[in-house]
Amino acid sequence: MHDLTCMIKGCQSKVYAPAGTHSVCRAHFLSYLTWRRRKGPQMFMRYAGMTMEERDPLVGDWANTIREEETPTASTSKP
Ligand SMILES: [Zn+2]
Repeated sequence: MHDLTCMIKGCQSKVYAPAGTHSVCRAHFLSYLTWRRRKGPQMFMRYAGMTMEERDPLVGDWANTIREEETPTASTSKP
């Protein structure tokens, strides 16, 4: 087995649910859910029919947004 902790770098939480071939903690799973929801219902439908391997690139996209959001020193433009 692999990934006993969240796949997100710097997160030490225990895994809660799979995200592609990796696993994420509860907080990050909910964040991932929200991210997919933002992409619209079509994404939701499409995701349901994807294999774990096919989900990986999507998880990667989301993981990138996570790191930006969680790095306070990053130069993010605030609304
Ligand atoms: Zn996490």
